[in-house]
Amino acid sequence: MPSPDLPDHVRKLVTEIEREIGEDDFDGDGRLRGDAAERDGDAAEAELTRPIVGHGSLSTPNGPVEEAVREILLEIGEDPDRQGLKNTPDRVHRMYAELTAGYHVDPHRLINGAVFDVDYSEMVVVKDIPFYSLCEHHLLPFFGTAAVAYIPRGKVIGLSKIPRIVEMYARRLQVQERMTHQIAETLQSILQPRGVAVWVEASHLCAKMRGVRQNEADLTTGCMLGAFEEDSTLRNDFFQRLKLRSAKLEY
Ligand SMILES: [Zn+2]
Repeated sequence: MPSPDLPDHVRKLVTEIEREIGEDDFDGDGRLRGDAAERDGDAAEAELTRPIVGHGSLSTPNGPVEEAVREILLEIGEDPDRQGLKNTPDRVHRMYAELTAGYHVDPHRLINGAVFDVDYSEMVVVKDIPFYSLCEHHLLPFFGTAAVAYIPRGKVIGLSKIPRIVEMYARRLQVQERMTHQIAETLQSILQPRGVAVWVEASHLCAKMRGVRQNEADLTTGCMLGAFEEDSTLRNDFFQRLKLRSAKLEY
């Protein structure tokens, strides 16, 4: 069920992540069709991939969030009533709702039956997937690219779904290590492939802007499951394919 209390600008984003333009997976009554609807009945899977619906006050104007932002402005010695800051509490409220829209994405609607039976067992790689996320320790951005690979065991997922799985987890408060694992585990649970590899490279503004721990400003994280964990040849093949991208960029 969509969260009825989401404001329009957040609902629009959630829908964009869940559904491709022109995609229509609902019948007249707003019920999910076919495959997706059947999977809704699977309690175990629902538990694994259920969206987290917050209990915030996203649709309350001049609510506690605006009040809290005003308090921050006062605390840092600003005048929240001066012209440039007058609408800042409202803008900040809307912005955080957008940047955390991933909590409201329903993975079943996102996948929408785009899992196909195939007789193909070579590595599938999607790389250079850009993402923007917020570090949960400072609420400052970290951003970069993700690369996702898997080795099918009879099933593949529509390629456009993978960047949106990344976006679903990026638009939350995150730590990069957890996001990397969540992307890998989600593909593992949807496809049960022979293996999944996820590699994320990102810059963290909380380290860069504050000028501390410069070595942590750029962070790479990986998650190797199944065959990628067990087989170093496969891992090397994966990294080789990522390097081809870097080599190309140097020209
Ligand atoms: Zn941080």
